[in-house]
Amino acid sequence: MKYIGAHVSASGGVENAPVNAHEIGAKAFALFTKNQRQWQSAPLTKSAISAFRENCEKLGYLPFQILPHDSYLINLGHPEKDGLEKSRIAFLDEMVRCEQLGLDRLNFHPGASLGKISDEDCLKRIADSVNLALDKTKGVIAVIENTAGQGSNLGYKFEHLRFIIDRVENQNRVGVCIDTCHAFAAGYDLSSETGFKEAFQSFDQIIGFRYLKGMHLNDAKKGLNSRVDRHDNLGKGLLGANVFQYIMQDPRFDNMPLILETPDETLWKDEIQMLYKMV
Ligand SMILES: [Zn+2]
Ligand SMILES: [Zn+2]
Repeated sequence: MKYIGAHVSASGGVENAPVNAHEIGAKAFALFTKNQRQWQSAPLTKSAISAFRENCEKLGYLPFQILPHDSYLINLGHPEKDGLEKSRIAFLDEMVRCEQLGLDRLNFHPGASLGKISDEDCLKRIADSVNLALDKTKGVIAVIENTAGQGSNLGYKFEHLRFIIDRVENQNRVGVCIDTCHAFAAGYDLSSETGFKEAFQSFDQIIGFRYLKGMHLNDAKKGLNSRVDRHDNLGKGLLGANVFQYIMQDPRFDNMPLILETPDETLWKDEIQMLYKMV
C-alpha cells in the first residue's frame, strides 16, 4: 500500500502536525520536532508528547507513516571540533525527541566537508556521529537522505550512502531516504523510464531496498546534474511528472512515508490526490 503525505507544519506544537496532515488527505507526514533554524529549543512537554500520540492514534498514523526531519543546522561531518560537537549534541537531542514521541525513524542530511577535509574523512565522521547517537538511544532508525551535492554536501552518490552504512555498527538502525529532486540534480535521470529503472537497479545493487525507509517526492527547478537543490511542485519542473507514476506503480515503494516537500503548499491536497490516482 502507498502512504502519501507532505512535510506539514508543527507550529504551535508537534501535536498539530497529524491534524495538519489529516486536513490535506495525507496518509503519511513529515515534521520538525523543534525549530529547524535554531540550535536550542525547549524540551518537548509531557502534554505535547501525549497529545501527539493521541492525535496520531485518532487519525490513523502509525510510526512507519511518519518521517521526522532534523534541523538544517546540523552537520554530522563538520571538519572542525566545535562545529562537530555542537552538531552531535543537537542530533542526539533530535533522536531523543523521536524516541519520546514513539517514532521509529529520523531523516537527516549527511553533512558537508566545507572544503576543509577530504570526502572520505567527512563520510567517516558522519558514520561516527551516527554511531554515537545510536549508542545513546533505542528504537529510532537514522535515515540518511541523498543530497543534490550542492556546495560541499556529501551523500549525492549512492556510494556515499553505502560508505556510511558500512561503518554504522548496528545496521538494523540505519536507513536511507531518496529525494527525487536531489537524485535528479545529482545526475540520476529519473525523468525517463529507462533512467528510472537504471537508477533504482544501481540503488538496489549498491545500497539495497531493505534500507529504504522513505521517499521525498519533489520536482526539480534546475536541470539534470545541476547539483542545485531547488524543489518544484509536481509536473512543474524539469524532472516532470512521469517519475511519480513510476513510483506509484512500483511495489518497492510500498509501506513507507512518501513525502512532498514541494514549495507551494496550497497544492499539496491536489498533489496527494493526483498521486493516489496514479497508483
Ligand atoms: Zn528532501
Ligand atoms: Zn532539497
